[in-house]
Amino acid sequence: MTITNPLLLQNPIEHVNDIDANYVEPAIEQIIADNRQQIAALTQLPNKTWENFMLPMDILENRLGKAWSPVSHLNSVCNSQALREAYDKGLSHLTDYSTQLGQDKALFSATQALYDDRENLQLTATQTHILKDSLLGFRLSGVDLSEALQAEFAKIQKRLSQLKSKFEHNILDATMSWRKPISDKNLLNGLPETELEILAANAKARGESGYLITLEIPSYLAILTYADDRKLREEVYYAYVTRASELGFDKGQYDNGPIMEEILSLKNAKAKLLGFDNFAQLSLESKMAESPEQVIAFLEQLNHAAHQQAKDELATLQAYAKQSGIDELASWDVAYYSEKLKQKTFEISQSELRPYFVVDKVMQGLFDLTEQLFNVTFQQTNDKAIWHPKVRHYELLRDNQVIAEFYLDLFARQHKRGGAWMDVCQSRYKTDTQQIQIPIAYLTCNFAEPAENKPALLTHDEVVTLFHEFGHGIHHMLTQVDELAASGISNVPWDAVELPSQFMENFCYHPEVINQISGHYETGEPLPENKLNKLIEAKNFQSAMMMVRQIEFSLFDIKIHMAEPLKVDTIQQELNEIRKAVAVMPPPEFNRFQHSFSHIFAGGYAAGYYSYKWAEVLSADAFSLFEEEGVLNQAAGRKFLTNILEKGGSADPMELFVAFRGRKPSVEPLLRHAGIDTSNVYE
Ligand SMILES: [Zn+2]
Repeated sequence: MTITNPLLLQNPIEHVNDIDANYVEPAIEQIIADNRQQIAALTQLPNKTWENFMLPMDILENRLGKAWSPVSHLNSVCNSQALREAYDKGLSHLTDYSTQLGQDKALFSATQALYDDRENLQLTATQTHILKDSLLGFRLSGVDLSEALQAEFAKIQKRLSQLKSKFEHNILDATMSWRKPISDKNLLNGLPETELEILAANAKARGESGYLITLEIPSYLAILTYADDRKLREEVYYAYVTRASELGFDKGQYDNGPIMEEILSLKNAKAKLLGFDNFAQLSLESKMAESPEQVIAFLEQLNHAAHQQAKDELATLQAYAKQSGIDELASWDVAYYSEKLKQKTFEISQSELRPYFVVDKVMQGLFDLTEQLFNVTFQQTNDKAIWHPKVRHYELLRDNQVIAEFYLDLFARQHKRGGAWMDVCQSRYKTDTQQIQIPIAYLTCNFAEPAENKPALLTHDEVVTLFHEFGHGIHHMLTQVDELAASGISNVPWDAVELPSQFMENFCYHPEVINQISGHYETGEPLPENKLNKLIEAKNFQSAMMMVRQIEFSLFDIKIHMAEPLKVDTIQQELNEIRKAVAVMPPPEFNRFQHSFSHIFAGGYAAGYYSYKWAEVLSADAFSLFEEEGVLNQAAGRKFLTNILEKGGSADPMELFVAFRGRKPSVEPLLRHAGIDTSNVYE
């Protein structure tokens, strides 16, 4: 009997529980071999059209994507040694394959010919846009290079993909390598009941009694925000910020330092091969922003507007901590005293809000909001294969038709990468038989597991995170683009991709929405008006401090990608320089934040971290229409749906924004939302 490899079936995600590590490499090798053969035949075709050339290419791409996506997803959320090795092997084949396609001169000239003949072939605006971007993609993959240089380029790409994977795995291993069991509850004085329950659940999940502190986010935040024991806060802070560095608990076993050096050096070499001065230039070639200098000017403009206010916020915090005998506020004191100050000023705490945000109620409220604004309903299913018992699966419906699906994986656990993200399982497109393949997304968060005999309860911050990822989700799932290459988030420039996600965050501060998503887990009572008002008042607590922190990360990212290749110590120096100019509360010497900055070293944000702020200009200004027309205004919702969400990557984001808003974006709503005085803005 031969066993079918689930990755070679039509819909591998439906067999997610059968995906054994052993299946990965053979499946990827086979699909790539099939694709190569068919692509060779396609390029030989005379009289190429969209239908006989681009569409068949999409079909091949789609099959490969659908096989790889669950592998990559499982590697993130159910990591194991075997899967990790299989993933790395598959990734290596994929990198070779995609570099080779990007450098294929026959494919390139076929694409160029189609583009040149676009009028004759009556290609749509979307198809033309895809071809234009695809031609740029070929150039950025080195299609114009000599054979020898192409080989060098391919080698760089391959090594980079290995290094990124290693970088991410080091963080996961370093995070899991540290733990602190606590048997004496008194050591945890200050922690509210719900935070204690998180630590108790941590211990219980590992078959232990008492409490367990780990470096997973809910646990880390519980200690840093609430533990009265300053020494304990320092210990946990130190363990967290030295992860994956030479100072780490694991004695440098998972040190990302050498990996960072090599990544920066290879990225620089790659940019130079393609004729750019540095990697930042290469990165911006396919983004909305036009040059690294423009990005820096933008960030400095924000810093100019926010800096003094951030200093004032810190001074207030320092003065407050001094009353408790803290003469020198340390980094491990910031969250703790900030929370206390916030409680004193606004009489509100994140922990106190938890009982009002029951996951199911929040999800239902979010669905109702989405239905109201974007005309789509949701239903949970229970017959789909899932990779963990806590994972949920939902369908999106319009006119009784299922138009999209998503998997929701909410809770932190071992062997699961930290953070929150949306990823693509499959994308919408119209097949050669005129069928629509619907989009499917994965929404992943790392909230605390529900405590015994209680439903899962979220802090308001976690609610905001959920709305954010859901915003990415609806960008992917509500698309109406028929072409694979531009549907959903495909082909959306990095610095525009955070528009729908950050847009959705805004709803979490409006009474109409809060009333829909909140309900005390014992009484069902929505968040009382006085608490709600305080929550809204507290929204911009320390917002300028938060803003300058984001600016610091963004400047660090763009500048290290503009410099000649840096070494571990010069990376640190660069960061220190930027902190001198921007940070109001410089972290201690031993802080190795950069060693776990996976957005830029392992993810897609290299020379692109500024995207959060860049896209926030768009998202804040987009939301200002809802402030003008009413946050639940259907007409505004439909406008956002048809001009932004449905359009995906089918046109330039600026064009889409102008169509939606009737004008270019302004930076004013971003600063106003953050409670920052707009008079300090210089144009
Ligand atoms: Zn995001």
